[in-house]
Amino acid sequence: MGNPEMRKQLASLSFSEKVEILEKLRDRSLAFAAAGPRDHRVHRAGGFCKCSDWEPCGCGHQPPYHCMWCCQDLSMEQVAIAKKRGFYSREKR
Ligand SMILES: [Zn+2]
Ligand SMILES: [Zn+2]
Repeated sequence: MGNPEMRKQLASLSFSEKVEILEKLRDRSLAFAAAGPRDHRVHRAGGFCKCSDWEPCGCGHQPPYHCMWCCQDLSMEQVAIAKKRGFYSREKR
C-alpha cells in the first residue's frame, strides 16, 4: 500500500528533514494530549496560546476565542489577526 508519489517524496528528503517532520507531528500530538479530550467547553485556565502555528478554533464554544490546537485563549493580538483573516465575522450584535 502507500502512495508511490509520497514514497518518492519521502525518499528524497534528507534524514534531518525527516526528523524535523516527525518532530513536528509529535509536538502536535503532544499538544493534543495536553489539551485533553477535545471538549473545548472546558478551557484550560490561564495563559494564552503560544503555538507558532495557532489556528482559531471553530468548535462553536466561543467566546472566548481560542486556539484549535491547545485550546488556550487567543491574545487580543491573535484575535485581531484572526478577524482580519475572516474568522469570527458572524458575531452576535
Ligand atoms: Zn474549541
Ligand atoms: Zn495554541
